[in-house]
Amino acid sequence: MTIKNIFFILFFLAALTFFVWSCRNLIRYMLVAKKKDDRFDKIPERIKRVLTVAFGQSKLLRDPIAGSIHFVIFWGFMLFLFAVLESILQGFYSPFSFKFLGPLYIPITLVQDVFGLLVIIAIVLSLIRRFVFKVKRLDVDREGKIDAVTILLLIVVVCISMFGQNIFHVAKQNFFIEPNELRPISSAIGALLFSSNSNADIPFEIFWWIHIVTVFGFLNYLPYSKHLHVLTSIPNTFFANVNSKRNTIQPLNLDDENAEYFGSSDIDQMSWKQILDGYSCTECGRCTSVCPAATVGKSLSPRKIIVDIRRRTKDKAPLMVNDVTESEVLLKTLVHDYITDSELWACTTCNACVQECPVMIEHVDSIVDMRRNLVLTESNFPNSLNNVFKSIETNFTPWVFNQADRANWADGMNIKTMAEDSNCEILFWVGCAGSFDSRYRKVIQAFALIMQKANINFRILGTEEKCNGDTARRLGNEYLAQMMMKDNIETLNKYGVKKIVTACPHCFHSLEREYKQFGGNYDVVHHSQLIEELLNSNRIKLKNKEDKSRVTYHDSCYLGRYNNVYEEPRNTLKNIKNIDLVEMKRNKSRGFCCGAGGGRMFLEDEEGGRINIERTTEALKTGADTIASACPFCMTMLTDGVKQFEKNEVVSVKDIAELVLENIN
Ligand code: SF4
Ligand code: SF4
Repeated sequence: MTIKNIFFILFFLAALTFFVWSCRNLIRYMLVAKKKDDRFDKIPERIKRVLTVAFGQSKLLRDPIAGSIHFVIFWGFMLFLFAVLESILQGFYSPFSFKFLGPLYIPITLVQDVFGLLVIIAIVLSLIRRFVFKVKRLDVDREGKIDAVTILLLIVVVCISMFGQNIFHVAKQNFFIEPNELRPISSAIGALLFSSNSNADIPFEIFWWIHIVTVFGFLNYLPYSKHLHVLTSIPNTFFANVNSKRNTIQPLNLDDENAEYFGSSDIDQMSWKQILDGYSCTECGRCTSVCPAATVGKSLSPRKIIVDIRRRTKDKAPLMVNDVTESEVLLKTLVHDYITDSELWACTTCNACVQECPVMIEHVDSIVDMRRNLVLTESNFPNSLNNVFKSIETNFTPWVFNQADRANWADGMNIKTMAEDSNCEILFWVGCAGSFDSRYRKVIQAFALIMQKANINFRILGTEEKCNGDTARRLGNEYLAQMMMKDNIETLNKYGVKKIVTACPHCFHSLEREYKQFGGNYDVVHHSQLIEELLNSNRIKLKNKEDKSRVTYHDSCYLGRYNNVYEEPRNTLKNIKNIDLVEMKRNKSRGFCCGAGGGRMFLEDEEGGRINIERTTEALKTGADTIASACPFCMTMLTDGVKQFEKNEVVSVKDIAELVLENIN
C-alpha cells in the first residue's frame, strides 16, 4: 500500500461519513411529516415510469432545446459512473482498471471521451441560456444563481479532470492504445500536446486527485444544494402517484373524532412525499412558466410553493428532530409565514404545473391540502366563499337557486327522470351550470336534442341530482364535497346506474375518477366523446352548409390535461364540413386555463390580471369567428372575455354540441 492509497482511504472514509450523515439528516427531516402516505403499491407501473420519465427524460424533452441539453448531462453523468468508480478503485489499488472486462471496456472508454466532450458543450450552452439569453423561467435569486453556477462548474471540473487522467494515461502508455480501449479524443489531444511520455505520471496523479476531490466534494455539496434533485428525482418519480390516483384529490378521513386539524398548515402535518417533492425541485421554473396565475401577475408561483416547503423543512425539521421546543422558527407556520393565503387561493388547479414538472412533483395536492387546513381547521377563507359553501349545503349547487327548479330546463322536451322510469341506456348527468345557468341550459338542451335525434334512450336524475362536489373539494371543503359525493352515489346506486354522460368536464372527472373513492363505480363519458361516437357510427349525420366558419377550440383542463380527451372534440369539429379549425398557440396538453377551475369561478380577482382575458386574447388572435368550448366554466369565462374586448357582435362562444346541432341533418 502506497502513501497515496493511505491518504485516499482516509479522505474517502471522511467524505463518505459526512455524506451518509447528511443523507441521514435529510431522511430524519422528511420523517417529521406525520401524515401517512403509502406509495409502495403497483411497483411495475412505478418502475415503468422511472424508465420513461427519469431515464427516458420524456417530460424534459417536451422542450427540445433545454430537454436535449439536460438529456446529455443526465446520461453523461450516468455513463461517467464507470470512470468515477475506476478512479475510486485506483485509490485503493493504483494499477486497478476495468480492462479485465475485455471488449466491454471499449464502450466504457469511448463513452467517457464522447460524453465528456458533449457534457462540457451542454454545460456551456446551459450557462449561455441562463446568463446570455436570460431565459425567464431560469431566473432565480442570487443564492440560486450561485448554486447553479457552482454545480455546473463542478461538473465541468469532473469532466476536465477525467479527460486529464485519460490524456496522461494514454501518454504514460507512450500513445499506445490497448486493443480494448477506445479514447479517440484523449489520444488526439495527447498526441497533439506531447511528443513523449516523459513526466506523464505526475500530471496524471494531479488530475486523478482533482477528479477524486471534486467528485466527493460534489457529492457532499448535493444535500445542501438545489441540485439535491440529482439524488432525489429518481425516487420522487418512483413514488409519484400511480395513474389511478394521479391528478385526483385523495379523501380526508373526516370521521376521526380526535383529529386536531385537517389538511396541512406546516411540514409536520404533511406527508413524507410532500417533503420529498420539496427536496426534488430543481428550480427549473417550468411549472411557473406555464402557470396561468403567475402568467397574469398573481403572487402564486408553483415553484415557490415547492421551494417554500423545502425552505420550511430546512428551518423547522432540524429543531424538531433535536427536540428544540423554544425558537422563533417554531412560532411560524408554512402557511401564512412562507406561503400566503392569496397564493393558495389563486390556484385554478389547472394541473399545468404538474404536467410540466420533470421530476413528477404534485403541486396541486399540496395546494389543496393547505386550502383544506384554511377552510376546515382555521375557518379562514375569502368572504365570497361563505355564500358558495352555504348554497352547496342548502341548495346543492354553488349558486343561489332552488333545487326544485333543477330540471326546469327539460320542460316540454319529453325527457324522463330515473324516478319515472329507470330502464335506460345511459344517464345524462346535467350538472349545476346546465341546470341553472341560462346560457349553459341552451347547451344542455342542444345535447339532449342530439341524443334524441340519435334515438338514445337516456334519463336524467332531475331534482335528485346534486352538485358533484368538485368545487367544494378543490376549495378545500372536503366535508361538504364528501357530503355531496356520498348523497349522489346513494342516488346513482339506488337506480343501478352503470353508464353516465355529462357535458361538464368537472362532473366528468369527479364521477369517473373520484367517486370510486366512496364506492361509486361508473363508466362515464364526456358529451364530446359520445358525440364523436354518434358521428362515427352514423347515428347522427351532418349536412353540408355553405357559410364557412373559422373556429378555434379551447381545451378544458379537466377534460384535456386531467383526462387526456384532446382529439374527440377536435374530430367532431373536423366532421363539420363548413368549419375551418384553427389552433391557438397554447393547445392540447399545453392549453391555457380559462381561469375558473379549482373554485376560482366563485372568487374575485383581487390581485394581478385576469386569466380569461389572457386566454381570450390568444383565441381572438387566431382570427376565429367562433370559440368552441366543451365546458360550462370555460364558456362563461371566454364569453366574459369576448365581451370585455367588445367583440361579442362578431365572435361567438359556442359549445361543440351547439355547433353539431346547427349542422345536423
Ligand atoms: S394548478 Fe395551474 S394555477 Fe395552480 S399552481 Fe399549477 S399551474 Fe398554477
Ligand atoms: S416544481 Fe418541478 S417544474 Fe417547478 S421548478 Fe421545481 S422541478 Fe421545475
